[in-house]
Amino acid sequence: MTATRVLVLNSGSSSVKYQLLDMRDSSRLAVGLVERIGEETSRLKHTPLIGGGAEEREREEPIADHEAALKAVSAELAADGLGLDSPELAAIGHRVVHGGLKFSAPTVITDEVLAEIQRLVPVAPLHNPANITGIRTAQALRPDLPQVAVFDTAFHTTMPESAARYAIDVATADEHRVRRYGFHGTSHAYVSRETAKLLGKAPEDVNVIVLHLGNGASASAVRGGKCVDTSMGLTPLEGLVMGTRSGDVDPAVVFHLARVGGMSIDEVDALLNKKSGLIGLCGDNDMRVIRRRIDEGDEAAALAFDIYIHRLKKYIGAYYAVLGRVDAVAFTAGVGENAAPVREAAVAGLEELGLAVDGELNAVRSDEARLISPEYARVTVAVVPTDEELEIAQQTYALVGNRP
Ligand code: AMP
Repeated sequence: MTATRVLVLNSGSSSVKYQLLDMRDSSRLAVGLVERIGEETSRLKHTPLIGGGAEEREREEPIADHEAALKAVSAELAADGLGLDSPELAAIGHRVVHGGLKFSAPTVITDEVLAEIQRLVPVAPLHNPANITGIRTAQALRPDLPQVAVFDTAFHTTMPESAARYAIDVATADEHRVRRYGFHGTSHAYVSRETAKLLGKAPEDVNVIVLHLGNGASASAVRGGKCVDTSMGLTPLEGLVMGTRSGDVDPAVVFHLARVGGMSIDEVDALLNKKSGLIGLCGDNDMRVIRRRIDEGDEAAALAFDIYIHRLKKYIGAYYAVLGRVDAVAFTAGVGENAAPVREAAVAGLEELGLAVDGELNAVRSDEARLISPEYARVTVAVVPTDEELEIAQQTYALVGNRP
């Protein structure tokens, strides 16, 4: 029997998201999520997608740790005949947030690879430890199975030094591995390729600005299928205004808040990562709620929206200049795929750059990749739904699939 299934795991500090795919046709067999691991009321949501069914099953019970979480997931999958002990499972693909400079491609996980992911914990203190826990747990469950790490940073390793380096003392930067790594790479890779497909061209032949606007948000400039710049940096804090992150600020804001505001480094860290961005500006980070508040005349929400759009527009302009020629601007992720007013406002006034949005096309709601620019526009504007799990599964399967 040929093993054609791939389990994709995205392990956070207190959550595990998973999808089981059949790589013969890239179909989903099951999807789910374990939340609040380690708390009293952990929750497992599991949706089997076989046999025409898509009924979500939900369990609330204490799930102590990642091992217990994965065992619970395994039991849910087994109930539908999709157990992790199945010989049809070819590999487990793990989302790993930080791969540093070393990992420019998906990698089969060995002890050395795990040690390197561990070595990167200082530059990804929130994410890499959870990813490592997920990997170790999965390895213990199926030690015989190839486990593959797919890195959020990998797509950005093609950035030239001119884009990747901060203009700070080189020796200090190198000693502490301070440089711009970029994140959301799996999404930027997938969406830039899908955008080329939408244009009917090969990825090598198109230049794309990808705007991944979710709760986290990042932009990237992709020339001929390769990333040449991206807005996130050493950590996911840099760049666009996000749900709870500030994006770009003068670094001296940190010194000021410490020296004059009396805040600790950890407090400033939490402020910029968790209490800034849209939530810091208006108290809400959900674009749907913000739009509703704007419709009701709420000024704080309107200003938050304007700041969000202003930053987005600056990055579109910057990446236009970086690329020189732009074939398409692609909107993706929760906000990018769903918030027509964001797309309209981000492109408004950029007609001189060949950018425009057609009101009617922009208002269409769909899960499909689609064009939203008028025919006359020199640059195509598109909505291209991202699918990080599919990308992880495909990269994993390409590396280890087709085992007898
Ligand atoms: P993501 O991180 O990609 O899952 O995106 C989550 C964010 O997408 C939410 O916080 C909302 O701001 C936004 N979002 C999701 N659905 C909609 C919608 N229908 N309209 C506007 N924004 C949305």
